[in-house]
Amino acid sequence: MASISELQKEARKFIDDRDWRKFQTAKELAANISVEANELLELFLWKNEKDIDRDILGGNDKELLRKIKNETADVFLGCLALADQANFDLEEAFLSKFEELKKRYDPKKVKGDPSKIPSND
Ligand SMILES: [Mg+2]
Repeated sequence: MASISELQKEARKFIDDRDWRKFQTAKELAANISVEANELLELFLWKNEKDIDRDILGGNDKELLRKIKNETADVFLGCLALADQANFDLEEAFLSKFEELKKRYDPKKVKGDPSKIPSND
């Protein structure tokens, strides 16, 4: 299995092989991540929790799960491309942020409390 750093290099090669770098500014890539995230969110639109549990978690709708996987991968590709364009290692950034979150959200203080789930920081 490839590391995130290796996937970032693969994304770079994918972009450079197609000569797309000149179009992919950091702003365009950030917008792309948002668009792809909304394509993912659209797959859940108008579905209640019961439908989601049955169709996705329960494996009843394999086509929907395939679409969710694809849109999630699109978001991830956008993140890899943005990290590469902005010249930082996404794996290192993730691990750094993850360590920060682990410190900030001590399980002894936040366990079982949904209001403590990080959302926008
Ligand atoms: Mg997409």
